[in-house]
Amino acid sequence: MIVLVAAAVLAACKGKDTGKAADTEEETALQYYQTDRTYDIVDVVMPPVTNEVRNVIIMIGDGMGLEQVSCAWVLNHGKLNFDNFPYTGISRTWCTNELITDSGAGGTALAIGQKTAYSCVGVAADSTDVPSVLVKAKELGKRTGIAVTCHFADATPCDFACHNEYRYNQDDLIADYVECGVDYLSGGGTDWFTNVKRGDDRNIMTEMANAGYNVVTTEEELMQAGLPVIGILSPDNLPVAKERGDLFRHSVARGLDLLSQGDKGFVMMIEGSCIDDWLHGNDIEKAMEELLDFDRTIGDVLEWAAKDGHTLVVVTADHATGCLTLQDGNLEDGEIGVHFASESHNGIAVPVYAWGPGSDRFTGIKENAEWGQIIASFVK
Ligand SMILES: [Zn+2]
Repeated sequence: MIVLVAAAVLAACKGKDTGKAADTEEETALQYYQTDRTYDIVDVVMPPVTNEVRNVIIMIGDGMGLEQVSCAWVLNHGKLNFDNFPYTGISRTWCTNELITDSGAGGTALAIGQKTAYSCVGVAADSTDVPSVLVKAKELGKRTGIAVTCHFADATPCDFACHNEYRYNQDDLIADYVECGVDYLSGGGTDWFTNVKRGDDRNIMTEMANAGYNVVTTEEELMQAGLPVIGILSPDNLPVAKERGDLFRHSVARGLDLLSQGDKGFVMMIEGSCIDDWLHGNDIEKAMEELLDFDRTIGDVLEWAAKDGHTLVVVTADHATGCLTLQDGNLEDGEIGVHFASESHNGIAVPVYAWGPGSDRFTGIKENAEWGQIIASFVK
């Protein structure tokens, strides 16, 4: 694999291919990347869209616009599990007081079905608590789950399980998990539950155990524990994609296994959280490895859902990050040459992909909150 920033030598080679000047400012600014972790995508037959929807799986790629998906598609030589989705739409991500959203407001719109203000998690723009689609599912007797690659104090898992008008009130957000009622929780961040990162002496892991949760910190324990369970599998975010093996995929599989044992179905939110972190850092290698791991996880979910026959799978993003452009590369070599124009989020609309029963509802150009409402309409 190659990662070269300001790669004058490689850019010179590219210059020959394109017939353009070899050392233009634009080309020397490109980052080139290839992965040695390519894979086959799954081959699944989708159940009829008219089947009854019993389970809903919402998958969020944080910071994942069409530009990031396009780059990953090239890296994997022109195939991704995203290719299996027959219905697609477009989601506008702005929040009530900013054109460019953060993950708090962007994810909350999907979770509660209404737009909210910048940095809000699980609350409306007027700061009142709003129950997420997971709470709605719980009230209907369904099981609920969250599996992420970030630490639990990060915005997206909190969007679905916690309530605060400011996403960086992280001591309060973590404390919300004690009473969140979510049956299956998997992610990272033991440091955020104790005084390693907390500003007080509360130990939220102990409080969750006292509230009846099985609190585990290793993959082995997670594979043994029953519901309700919280797996906090690292001190902070999970290790980066290349170092964690199949930890994230296994945490999702365990969630599907446990949640599907209920009588009334389940709703699960799965997030490829750290795609966004590395886009902020303009690190194409780490961002792409996170996205490819997310795509492998999508493949696992589709295989599971194809067997089940009553599961709607929706994949989208809270916003795009990095103003990434795919400017060079080729499919045969699985190589991309990209440019970042920003280290922040941007306001470009993001894709929505749907698969399974009910998926034909997921077409057109809509606000993120409308997509949230459509998702919630299948939880009944
Ligand atoms: Zn971000």
